[in-house]
This record gives sequence, C-alpha cells and structure tokens, in this order.
Amino acid sequence: MHAELELGLERRIGKRSAAVIEKHLGITTVGGLLNYFPRRYLSRGELTPISEVPLDEEVTLIARVISNSTRAMRARRGSLTDVVISDDAGTAGSGRAGGGLPGTLKVSFFNGFRAKAELQPGRRAMFSGKVTRYGGSLGLTNPDFLLLDEDPDTPGLDPEKLAAMPIPVYPATAKLTSWSIQKVISTLLDTLELEALGDPLPAEIAAREKFLPVADAYRLIHTPQTPADWQRARDRFRYQEALVLQSALARRRAQLAAEEATARRPAPDGLLPAFDRQLPFTLTAGQAAVGKTLSEELAQDSPMNRLLQGEVGSGKTIVALRAMLQVVDAGGQAALLAPTEVLAAQHYESIRRTLGPLSRDGMLGGFGPDAVQVTLLTGSMPTAARKQAMLDAASGTAGIVIGTHALLSETVSFYDLGLIVVDEQHRFGVEQRDALRAKASKPPHLLVMTATPIPRTVAMTVFGDLETSVLDELPAGRAPISTHVVGLAEHPAWAGRIWSRSREEIDAGHQVYVVCPKIGEDDDGDFTPGEAEPSAADLEGENGARELASVTGVVEHLRDEPALAGVPVAPLHGRQDPALKSETMASFTANRTKLLVSTTVIEVGVDVHNATLMVILDADRFGISQLHQLRGRVGRGGLPGTCLLVTTLEPGHPSRRRLDAVAATTDGFELSQEDLKLRREGDILGASQSGGRSTLKLLRVLEHEDVIARARQDAQRIVAADPTLAGQPLLAAAIDEYLNPEKEAFLERG
Ligand code: ADP
Ligand code: MG
Repeated sequence: MHAELELGLERRIGKRSAAVIEKHLGITTVGGLLNYFPRRYLSRGELTPISEVPLDEEVTLIARVISNSTRAMRARRGSLTDVVISDDAGTAGSGRAGGGLPGTLKVSFFNGFRAKAELQPGRRAMFSGKVTRYGGSLGLTNPDFLLLDEDPDTPGLDPEKLAAMPIPVYPATAKLTSWSIQKVISTLLDTLELEALGDPLPAEIAAREKFLPVADAYRLIHTPQTPADWQRARDRFRYQEALVLQSALARRRAQLAAEEATARRPAPDGLLPAFDRQLPFTLTAGQAAVGKTLSEELAQDSPMNRLLQGEVGSGKTIVALRAMLQVVDAGGQAALLAPTEVLAAQHYESIRRTLGPLSRDGMLGGFGPDAVQVTLLTGSMPTAARKQAMLDAASGTAGIVIGTHALLSETVSFYDLGLIVVDEQHRFGVEQRDALRAKASKPPHLLVMTATPIPRTVAMTVFGDLETSVLDELPAGRAPISTHVVGLAEHPAWAGRIWSRSREEIDAGHQVYVVCPKIGEDDDGDFTPGEAEPSAADLEGENGARELASVTGVVEHLRDEPALAGVPVAPLHGRQDPALKSETMASFTANRTKLLVSTTVIEVGVDVHNATLMVILDADRFGISQLHQLRGRVGRGGLPGTCLLVTTLEPGHPSRRRLDAVAATTDGFELSQEDLKLRREGDILGASQSGGRSTLKLLRVLEHEDVIARARQDAQRIVAADPTLAGQPLLAAAIDEYLNPEKEAFLERG
C-alpha cells in the first residue's frame, strides 16, 4: 500500500517520538522514516580497542566504566564530569582512575547530567566520538554513548549480540543520536505491515537482478544480522534509486522531445556552405561528426537538447558557430550565452573575425542573404549601444546575438529565436537557461557546451536530460603543453627563475599569462560574482595565514623586477571598468602587452595564439578543472606551451595533490575523474550552485557506473513503452516523491 508511506508518523511511533523525529530530522511520514537509511555499518572488527584509539578520528568503542567524578568548572559556569572507561583488552576491573593507564580512556562531559547519572562504575556502554588530546593523554569529549546492559530502555539490545551484529550508523544530529534513531525505526518496523508495501521496481527487473523483496530489504537495511544482509538490501535500494532518477530523466527527455520546435533545415546556397568554403583549416573528424548530428537535429521539428563536451581547445566554438549559421540560413536567430563579459566580448570578436566577409556590422545596415549581423549585448554597454543591440535582437536584424546574462533580462526579446548555445555551462543555472528558452515562441533548439569534460556517469546523472556528444580530439598542429609544479617551499630560488623564464619567452616573440588568486593585496580572494567561483581550495581554506599573490601586488613587484625591465605588463581583473578590460584584452591580443597579470577572468575561452607561458601563482588555491582550463590558454597556435604551477606549500601537503594531478596529465577526462575523487559528492551534483545538498542517498556517481548505466537502459525502455508510466504507478509515485522542488531544480540543471 503506497498510501501507508504517506501517513503521518504519530500513529506508528507515538506522538512524542514523532515530534522528536520531525524536530531533528524534518521527517513527518512513515515513508520518510522508513527510507532514512543508515549511512554505514560498524562491525565488531571496527570497534576500536582503547589501546589503539587514533588522535583526531571518530571512533566507536564498547567499554566498561571504571570511575565517574563531577566537579564545578573554575573558569566558567557549569560542571565537568570525568568518566574513566576501560575495554576488555585493557585493565578492566582495576578500579583505578587515571586516563593515562594503558587500556583506559578519559571521557569528559561538560554539563553531562545524563553521563553523571548513567555512567556508573561497572556499567557497560558504547561510546562514539572524536578522539582529542586531553592533558597528556588521549580522550573523548562529549561523545555519544549508549548504555548496553541492564538498560530498561533498550530491550533486546544484548551487548554480545549487538557487538557481533553490524551496527547501523544513522546520519545523526547532536541532539538525536544514531541509536535513538535506530530505536524509533525498530518500533516503526514492528508496527508496519511491510509485506503490504508495493514495490516500485518492475517485477521483471527485480527478478533479473535477484533482488530481495521490498519488505525484506527494509528489514535488513535497518536491522541486519550479518553484513551480507545490509549489502543485499542496499544493492536493491541503490538500484531503485538509480532507476527512479533515470526514469525521471528519461521522462523529461521524452517530454522535451515531444515538444514542437521549428525545423531549421540547411540551405544549399546559404551562409553555412559559404563559411565552410572559406574555413582556413579542415574540421577534425570529431567536429565533422558532431556537426552532422547537430545539423540533422536542427532540421527536425522537435527541439534539439544536446550537451557538447570537449577537451579544452578541441574547437567547440566552430561547431557551435556552424550550427548557428544553419539556423540563420533557415531564417531564425541564434543566441550565444557566455559566463563573463570578457568571454562574451572575446567570442564576439573572434566570431566576427572567423566569419570575415560573412559577418555584417549593425551600423552598415543593408539586408542580404550574403552576410549575418553579429551583435554583442552585455550589461555594461553604453545605453545607446545597448538599446540598438536590443532593437536589433527584437527586430530580427541581428542574426547572432552574443551576450552575458544581460540577454536574460526581461527587456530583451527576439524576433525568432531558433537556437540557444550556452558556453561553459557550469556557470549557468537552470533558471537562467529556462529564462532564455522562454524568449522563443516555440521551444528553441539548445546546445550546451561544457568547459571541462565530465565522466560519463556524471553526464548521465547531472546532465541526464540532454543527449551527449563528445569532441575528444584536438585539431592537428596543437603543440603539447608541459606542466611543472614549482615548489617555492623547497626551492625558494625558483621565484626569480619564473621571471627570467618569462623574459625568455617574451624575447622569443611570445607572450605570458600570470594568474593570481586575488585582485588586491588586502582582499581575501573574493571575486566579482560571475567572474570566478571560489575553488574547492578556497572553501576548505587553510585560512589566509599566508600572503597570497594578488594582481596589483604582482604588477607592482614586476615594475622592479630586473628580468622584466622594459616589458609591457598589464593587469586585468573583474573590478576594472569594462572599457579598460576590453582595451587590455585588445592590447594583449595585438601583442602590444607582453605579460598579462590577471585573475581567473581568462580561465575560459580566451584565445591568444601567441601566448606560450602560463604562470599560476599560489596554484594550490585553484581547483583541478580551473587549472586545466587555465593551462588550456597556452599552446594554441602550434607553439609548444609551458605551464608553471607555483606554490609555497610544502611537498606532501594535501592541496598539492591537485597540482601533481594536473602536472601528471593533460587528459581532461582523466583529470575530471581525479577531481571528483578529491571532492565531495555534493559538489559533483552541482549542489554548491543551489546551496542544497546532494540528493543521492546510496548512489555514488563514480563508484556505481554499472548500476547507473543499467538503470538508464531500463528507464529508457520503460519510458519508451509507457511515456506517462500509467502502468507503473508505484514507480511514478516514487519519481514524484523524488522530485520535490529542490530536487527538480537539480534534475533540470544542465
Ligand atoms: P574550445 O573547445 O576550448 O572552446 P575553441 O573553440 O576556442 O576551443 O578552439 C580553439 C582554437 O582552435 C581556436 O583558435 C580555433 O580557431 C581553432 N580550431 C578549431 N577547430 C580547428 C581545426 N579543425 N583545425 C585547426 N584549428 C582549429
Ligand atoms: Mg570555448
């Protein structure tokens, strides 16, 4: 009975428990609590002997109380209860207090009224907490504890049996311990008729996978007798989670595909063929293949929804431009959305350059099929220019409109928007994408391009509603980039070498990027919103004790750097006036500025072929994909590139692992796997964008590739046969439950 799951908890576990569960876990329904699974399980082997407790780690141990004393604290109000415990391996029964004895541990509680009353000498209890240094010896401070024997409150929890059985560990809160949750859930399991619950998994899949019946699975995930019990139960629920998620995505893909779009068919004598004829290079095989796919999908009257992944420098822009030209040839408009003003301006310049005579300036007027008007529209443009750009978009004079989020503003409208290209997608949220889609009378075709390649399973979950294309080869003539970690901690003298190395490149006629984590000397690495997100490293923070390189500080320093005497150096960062920014970029592009000191404004898309050296200062402050992106700015013009990852951290520092990983390979797919391993799951799913948390409970996108792939196939088949899932009401209900508003946003992200 599915309805049972939606019932309030009160009737099952009593008013008081229900109130506690709602207050601390926010769970109000039977289904919610039933699906509150243990995060992990401890086995007896994982109980830590007291003689081996490690400093600074979470431990769970079973021990007997030897002594218990309470005293008032001197420095502040309150009392301190000291309990000395001993496990069987130690000096149990000696009765002698003293946390320093082998086999004993001092456990301290501030205002520990329950500890004072309950942890009487002789009692056995399970303790769980973090080991800290206490005076000269190790101890636990305010750990969770559960009395084991002679405890009237925990019937049936016989200590020996408990210790032999896997111990479920629930995501607990400070106020509600894992074992209180366990107790409430046991009550729930006892009062529910689990056999009556329906199974959201289609029977043939459950049979094929030899899954436990759903009732058994619930029992065993919460109260396993052996490790195999919870493993089997978990396998089942994990698959169920994958299937629900993939079915939701498949249903959304089907819904999107069922929408009606305007077909934009190629024109044999249009701009696209003319463009191809004048292209100074041949397309890579991948560009040609993806181009064909896009061309075919644009020609359909259902909307294209496609994700284009490509290595840095693999030539995604040309692919997108060709798609835009096909739409323009068919009488529609195309919009290109970039994450920053610098990048939008760059795209504008380079697309007009690439189009050459096929691009037409707004001012010159003159309609004709032989050229397309490319228009830039950003928030910082002077009002008159901005108004003109908006007019051109609305009247259809502009065939290709390039802009930032300013394109999303309500005052911007299009005459006939046929294609939206979102570049470097990770900076754009789903709301923004939808705002843009809403600007077309019929659903437009959509092409999303990711800045960094992402593992297949991430694509299948986070971007699961889009079809995926991959550009995995770089255009011929790409020179290799060599990357080196420059550790100033162990080689302080290398600091000077960085600048003489820069001078060598410049003397050879080339140019240099220097990237810093901060703008000014006294800011703390806060960037203008939209310009650069703080990296994982920033968020983890080993907080600002050391002085980080800043754009203004470095520019200042380089003025007096003998190795760079007479070299034109310019700063570039997000707090500058937009006019100054574009002037600086223009000067660098024209090779007048030789060395550019900037923040990560140049992280994505910037394309100056003559630049050969990338120096990243305090590189440990950036994430893997940022570093990979930054490195991709050099080695673009057939000239070999060099990237120096400069750090003052000691070798072996955890944050240096990212640098070593980046230096070890230039394969973006490999790096993104590495990146994911070093990050938390929530980041992977883009939760940091929405402020929410990972919605996946048992699935781990990196570990469970098989499960995700199988579930995706099943989901595709199920939805194809039954698009509304009318024949699978329990699966449909599970999907609806999964798709609360927050989760829906997560699903649509992409
Ligand atoms: P990304 O995929 O990182 O966005 P871009 O689209 O910026 O890469 O392309 C990088 C550079 O490669 C550009 O200067 C572009 O003109 C050039 N390029 C693209 N395709 C080819 C090709 N088939 N042959 C040679 N150069 C190419
Ligand atoms: Mg690009």
